[in-house]
Amino acid sequence: MLTGAGISAESGIPTFRAAQTGLYAQHSPQELASPEGFRKDPKLVWEWYAWRRSKVTAANPNRGHLALVAMEQRVPKFTLITQNVDGLHRRAGSLNVLELHGNIMNTKCSRENTPVTGWQDTGSIPPICPNCKAFLRPDVVWFGESLPADKLLAALDAASACNVFLSVGTSTLVEPAASLPFLALRHGAVVIEVNPEQTPLSKQAAIILSGEAGSILPQLVNAVWGCVI
Ligand code: NAD
Repeated sequence: MLTGAGISAESGIPTFRAAQTGLYAQHSPQELASPEGFRKDPKLVWEWYAWRRSKVTAANPNRGHLALVAMEQRVPKFTLITQNVDGLHRRAGSLNVLELHGNIMNTKCSRENTPVTGWQDTGSIPPICPNCKAFLRPDVVWFGESLPADKLLAALDAASACNVFLSVGTSTLVEPAASLPFLALRHGAVVIEVNPEQTPLSKQAAIILSGEAGSILPQLVNAVWGCVI
């Protein structure tokens, strides 16, 4: 199954578009979440991510995340592919999670591309890599960057092999994740979409559950397994 920003909306984490009505309403996603944007204004990008990290730290998993934990405990083979960088699925208790776009709480060196867990506070924003002195950056996948190959391959395998594919809270616009439900369709899976709005997937999904994930997913696990979230 695949999740997007919509599943965390009810935890108070804005979706990408909604996020832009906040602190940095005047900037495009490319300015805030691309290598070019980071090169142009690293301080702006670091501070925008610091703001997003504070929102994520203050947030808690919602009933939608918890319903997916219950689902994983009841389905023999369950893979949760997420485009979200907020880590809320793992915090909720989901185990087999593929974070396709990384995790906002992690940091890496912008030159060496290696994870960095500690650095000296020199007052520099962004902070400096202790090894090579390049700027540090969030360990997330930005527009124009490749996804980690191992995670993408695992996601493609899971989408090709599944019987049922749930697509929850994603606009189905950001590639390559957007292709996963269509791949599942081509391999004969029953595709179910959970979203209050129409997406490019809606016309082809077998079942549309129109509404918010925090209410639809608990109803789904209750209807299938009699489990109360
Ligand atoms: P998106 O912002 O493009 O689309 C969000 C989708 O969620 C929309 O289709 C919307 O109708 C739906 N939605 C809104 N509220 C919902 C709810 N309560 N229940 C179910 N659906 C709901 O998000 P995307 O498709 O994930 O793609 C945007 C990109 O931005 C991704 O790459 C993602 O990594 C990143 N992003 C992540 C987070 C996060 O980690 N929480 C937040 C914002 C953006």
